Amino acid sequence: QLYNQVQDLKGAIRVFCRVKPFLHGKSDEQSTVDYVGENGNIMIVNRHKQGKDARKMFTFNKVFGGNTTQQQIYVDTQPLIRSVLDGYNVCIFAYGQTGSGKTYTMSGPDMTTEDTWGVNYRALRDLFQLSEARMDVINLSSYKFTIDPCYALTINTLDIRNNSQLNGLNVPDASLVSVKCTQDVLDLMRIGQRNRAVGATALNERSSRSHSVLTVHIRGKELVSGSTLKGCLHLVDLAGSERVDKSEAVGERLKEAQHINRSLSALGDVISALAQKSTHIPYRNSKLTQVLQDSLGGHAKTLMFVHINPETNAIGETISTLKFAERVA
Ligand code: ADP
Ligand code: MG
Repeated sequence: QLYNQVQDLKGAIRVFCRVKPFLHGKSDEQSTVDYVGENGNIMIVNRHKQGKDARKMFTFNKVFGGNTTQQQIYVDTQPLIRSVLDGYNVCIFAYGQTGSGKTYTMSGPDMTTEDTWGVNYRALRDLFQLSEARMDVINLSSYKFTIDPCYALTINTLDIRNNSQLNGLNVPDASLVSVKCTQDVLDLMRIGQRNRAVGATALNERSSRSHSVLTVHIRGKELVSGSTLKGCLHLVDLAGSERVDKSEAVGERLKEAQHINRSLSALGDVISALAQKSTHIPYRNSKLTQVLQDSLGGHAKTLMFVHINPETNAIGETISTLKFAERVA
């Protein structure tokens, strides 16, 4: 093993909860997060139950409060990124309702200051830097790494007509982007940001209804023995997990919402089956889990970031997000 610190990860699946900063809208409103404790505890309070507070505690591998920086988030993500160079397949998911901070965690709010860069950029920068560093070592068991072109992939939960092929599957909107260095990744993300600024509403609409996946494959060749290893990293910004009110959504929108809910619960089923070391893992139930099948379970590591919005009117989604997360933890 090149990076021994990876061994401190106990299970193959871990769940981190990130709380979006609480913005005081109305003066009488309070955060639904009562407190974030050490040891991965988070206490949620529902203050609107007939004047009586209802509290519920949830426990995850880690909980990050509203003032956590992007850098602090990445410190705990980094060991998983490094394990890609040990030949692991790694999936990192961002889960949560629309507006809870999924894209903030994965991409970051903008590319102008390094401080706010998200997991995607930091992870790719690390992979490039670490793979270069490895090439300089001659004496020990040393690998020469190559980074294959990245897949930037959007899984629109309804549209399965496109004929791009990935893992022998038809996948819509798959595009292959060749990145050779961190600058390429930065450029790629800048383009994304620019598009976002232009069509903010349209893009947010679209991104909240599709899963977006960034995939990097790495190949290593041991310089003396010639033995090889492969690793891969999937960075997944999931579709918004909010339940759509059946009385409000109709037609295509309702169908789409139901597809999203189904694919997210299919993902939950797969991860919870893996966590329970079940013999049957139901990969076939959604396109998302089929595309990621090689990287979920087996010789793979999974990290789920669940995001919650601490505002009062989000309490229902907050509770269901935390229940989902508890099921996969
Ligand atoms: P999602 O992708 O889940 O729909 P976003 O990441 O787009 O949510 O976040 C919604 C808004 O909240 C954005 O304006 C974003 O910049 C802001 N936001 C989210 N998380 C944070 C955070 N940790 N710190 C500061 N602002 C945040
Ligand atoms: Mg988003």
